[in-house]
Amino acid sequence: MERFKGKVAIVTGGARGIGAAITHRLGSEGAQVAIFDIDAEAGKRRLTELRERGVDAILVQGDVSREGDVKRCVSQVVETFGKINVLVNNAGIGFSGKPIFEQSLEEWNRVISVNLTGPYLFAKHAAEVMVKSGGGVIVNIASTRALQSEPNTEPYSASKGGLLALTHSLAVSLAPYRIRVIAVSPGWIDTAGRVVPPHKSQLTTLDHEQHPAGRVGTPEDVAALVAFLASDEAGFITGTNVIIDGGMTVKMLYLD
Ligand code: NAD
Repeated sequence: MERFKGKVAIVTGGARGIGAAITHRLGSEGAQVAIFDIDAEAGKRRLTELRERGVDAILVQGDVSREGDVKRCVSQVVETFGKINVLVNNAGIGFSGKPIFEQSLEEWNRVISVNLTGPYLFAKHAAEVMVKSGGGVIVNIASTRALQSEPNTEPYSASKGGLLALTHSLAVSLAPYRIRVIAVSPGWIDTAGRVVPPHKSQLTTLDHEQHPAGRVGTPEDVAALVAFLASDEAGFITGTNVIIDGGMTVKMLYLD
């Protein structure tokens, strides 16, 4: 499939995990790809891998929560590739898992600024370019934690819930410019940055079994969904949230 031939995509947090799988998937389907990541070393490794696979790619190092970095990225992508068709707001950070009484305001502010302000800034500046390119697609990587909770996830859950509301608002505001905006909410995806309480550094058999699908998800599962949603095949999908969680969110728990 070459659904992204002639298209230009920015993937934030594209150096590792889900973002890296998305850069690979979009690149393998013909996209020119810009990785934006705070981690320059991991970014360089990903860039080398993509280029070795024949993907026309660049790396921009920066922090999604800093407007200057976001504007620099957008300018560099336009200088290099001439346009932006797809933006994937994937960069995100987790939470300490401390009880609310011990959570710091610094933690709250940092999680909100990376997970919510970052996507807002990227949408704002990339959409301006998309308008000139005749439209585009923005995919925001949220989380099932926007929809269901366990104790002590307040900053993260609030940031992802805000991202769902931001998705709705952007979808309505940008529709006249032929820009679709969609949220993707993964459940448990096996990455180094996967969001589990700190006491759970390893996934257990039970973790896999609590998914009706029988397993935790992979970054490639999410990348395949993002590629579909960002493609023209999904032209009638905007302003919604697509859950990808192996059925975990809808499973009832029976406690004996
Ligand atoms: P990860 O930690 O493996 O990768 C995140 C990437 O984002 C890293 O390359 C990191 O350097 C980059 N990044 C972090 N802060 C940044 C910043 N301020 N500016 C630019 N880049 C930054 O994480 P992941 O598991 O691949 O998660 C990706 C996204 O998916 C996140 O938004 C996360 O909240 C969401 N998500 C993950 C899971 C899961 O189980 N893994 C579940 C639901 C949602």
